[in-house]
Amino acid sequence: MKKPELLAPAGDLEKLKMAVVYGADAVYLGGKKFGMRAAAGNFSTDDFEEGIAFAHRHGAKVYVTVNIFANNKDLEELPAYLKSLQELGVDAIIVSDPGVLAIARETVPGLSCHLSTQANTTNWRSALFWQEAGIARIILARELSLAEIAEIRRRVTVELEVFVHGAMCWAYSGRCYLSLHLAGRSGNRGECAQACRWKYYLLEEKTPGVYMPVEEDSRGMYILNARDLCLIDYLGRLAAAGVNSFKIEGRMKSAYYVATVTRAYRRALDAYLRDPDYVVDPALHAELQAISHRPYSTGFLEGNPGLWGQVFDSAQQVTSHEFVGVVRSYDPVAKRAVVEMRNRFAAGEKLEVFGPRTDCREFVVTDLRDAGGEPLREAIRVQEHVSLSMPEPVEEYAIIRRRLARV
Ligand code: SF4
Repeated sequence: MKKPELLAPAGDLEKLKMAVVYGADAVYLGGKKFGMRAAAGNFSTDDFEEGIAFAHRHGAKVYVTVNIFANNKDLEELPAYLKSLQELGVDAIIVSDPGVLAIARETVPGLSCHLSTQANTTNWRSALFWQEAGIARIILARELSLAEIAEIRRRVTVELEVFVHGAMCWAYSGRCYLSLHLAGRSGNRGECAQACRWKYYLLEEKTPGVYMPVEEDSRGMYILNARDLCLIDYLGRLAAAGVNSFKIEGRMKSAYYVATVTRAYRRALDAYLRDPDYVVDPALHAELQAISHRPYSTGFLEGNPGLWGQVFDSAQQVTSHEFVGVVRSYDPVAKRAVVEMRNRFAAGEKLEVFGPRTDCREFVVTDLRDAGGEPLREAIRVQEHVSLSMPEPVEEYAIIRRRLARV
C-alpha cells in the first residue's frame, strides 16, 4: 500500500510548525489574497518564507489555497500572485474556480493544482473531467460514502484527498448564503459566521416582539447544527480504497487543536500501515475528546446520516481539557522549562503535558517564575513566557493542558 499523506491545517505560522512537528506530511494554508478563509490568520510573505522553509526542512509539503470563486476584477492580480507562490517554493495550490485553474495552467504550468472541496466533486465523471483539465489532486466532497470514493478511485488516476476530521458544513461546502444574508459575511469569501449553528426562533407577523422557540424539547432546537466529522476508525478502509491524502479541517482552530488532532491521526495512520487489522487505541479516541468539538459522527461515509448528522439540543462545543501553554525550551541542567502561557495557571496546580514524541503525563506546577526569575504565584498574561521546574525532560512544542472537571 502506498503510504497516504496526513494533511493538517496551518492557519498561521505557529500552527504550521505545530502541524509539522506533530506529524503532518503536508500542511495547507492561505495567503493574504484569493483564499477562502479570510479570517484564518493567513500568511504574509515573511511568514510564507519561514513556514515553507520550516516545513521543507522537516520533509513536509506546503499547499496554498487560491480557492475563491473569482470575479473579473479578482483576475487582474492573479498571475503575479501565482508566480510569487511558485517562487516561494509552494508544492501545490488549491483552486476551485475553472477560470483560476486556467490562469494557473497558463502562468505557472509547473505548479501542481489541487481541486478544492468547494468544487463539490461527487462523482467519477466529474473527477475524470478535472483530471483531463490538468488537476493533479481532487479534494472530494465530504458528502460521499466509502463505496462511492472507491468507485471514483477505480475510474480515475488523479490523486484523491478526503476530509477525515473537523467541522461539517450544513450545505455543500461553499454553496450557502445563510451567513452572507444574516451576518453580511460570505461563506464563499471565507468569512462564514457559522450562522447555521445559531439558535432560531419563530416570529408570527401579527404578534411583533414575541419570539417563539423552535422547540424539540425544553432545551430548544438547533435545526442546522451539523455534528463534527471523525473518521479515525476508517483510515485503513480509506487507504485500501485508494485515498492518497487524509485531510484535517480547521484553519480557524487553535494550535492546541492542530497538535492534538494531528498527533492522534499520525499515530493511528502509522499503526494501520504497520498492521491493516489495527483497531484504534481507545486512548486516541480520548485524545480527540480533549479538543473543543461538537459531538462526532462519521459524516456520509456509511451513507447519508440523515437526522443523526445534526445536533438538535445545543450548539455548544464540548471538551475534556483546556489549553494552558506551549513549551518553548527546556534546560536539562537546571531541569526547567520555559512555557508560553495561553490560559492562566498557578503554582501547585496539577496539569498534563505531552510532546510530539512523548506520551501525556501529569505533573504539578512547582517553582513558577517570571521571565526575570522572580517567583510567581500565578501566570496570568497570555503569551507571557514563564519558567517552572520540570524534573522529567519535555520537548520543545510540548503542549500543557488542564483536565476540566467532569460535569
Ligand atoms: S453558515 Fe453553516 S452551512 Fe452556511 S457556509 Fe457557514 S458553516 Fe456552511
